[in-house]
Amino acid sequence: MQDVLLDVQDLVVHFRVYGGYLKVLDGVTLQVRSQERVGLVGETGCGKTTTMKTIMGILPQPPGVIRGGRIFFRGQNVLAMRPQELERLRRSGISMIFQDPTAALNPVFTIGEQLEDAIRYALGRTDHASIRERAIETLRSVALPDPLRILESYPVQLSGGMRQRVCIALALASPKELLIADEPGTSLDVTIQDQILRLIHRLAEDRKMAVILISHSLGVIREWTERVYVMYAGTIVEEAVTQELFAQPLHPYTKALIACVPKLTGEGIAEGIPGRIPDYFEPPSGCRFHPRCPYALDICRKEKPKLFAVCENHRVACFLFGEENR
Ligand code: SF4
Repeated sequence: MQDVLLDVQDLVVHFRVYGGYLKVLDGVTLQVRSQERVGLVGETGCGKTTTMKTIMGILPQPPGVIRGGRIFFRGQNVLAMRPQELERLRRSGISMIFQDPTAALNPVFTIGEQLEDAIRYALGRTDHASIRERAIETLRSVALPDPLRILESYPVQLSGGMRQRVCIALALASPKELLIADEPGTSLDVTIQDQILRLIHRLAEDRKMAVILISHSLGVIREWTERVYVMYAGTIVEEAVTQELFAQPLHPYTKALIACVPKLTGEGIAEGIPGRIPDYFEPPSGCRFHPRCPYALDICRKEKPKLFAVCENHRVACFLFGEENR
């Protein structure tokens, strides 16, 4: 893959809990190119946020334990970085915005205090006047009106949409090459969600940033991304150029996920996917989707399928596809 910015290979992460380990990530592999918009979809609890926190170097360890895999950002081994190098990575390489802007902001400090702190940290500036000026400029860049009033406000005094814009301003207080947007619109109504996505789009274009968008909304992923990874129970099960994935989904899980989307034309309530995400304490052997898969074969219970390239822009991890997997 040309001009790879982020390269994650076979990432395995467990969580130590009473009585053993939760085997959450089971060999996650994904890549992001410079300035690319990549989507990551999957049910709640499938390991999307754990993957992103590990990439950012903010996975709490313990209870998290990185058992294996590699993460390279601009060719540098993230898992081998020292704390100062990780700080540099978060200052100028990767930033993340979270699903719930209310939880992401500290309720006892004003927006000004939080934003100015972020600017001081990111740019290493100490001069108060220039930090203040930069804070005002940053709030303007995320289309927040009346920045002086916002700087004096506490998070509780702002609407959900304004709080999410502040979080974006915090994440982009210094230039970044990759923005991870972890369900940035889920807690907002659809019109504000649309505004936030447009804002991220504009900032990504202006600043020539790559974006990983995590979303439950397949409509948003379809409209907004160039390539999509589908994740199930800690594994990437399908990867394709966005148009191709929606035109011709191959993995039984991807097909079921798309079939779950309610139709605006009113064709009844979607059936959903029977069963639930597996217990990570004792995940199913072989393909982790086999207890829910209507096409499961004997081999699916014994072996884990590898990602198989069905064409240049489409890979799937399923024994129904590819000689290597049979
Ligand atoms: Fe279903 Fe087997 Fe494919 Fe897994 S590998 S999705 S169980 S057919």
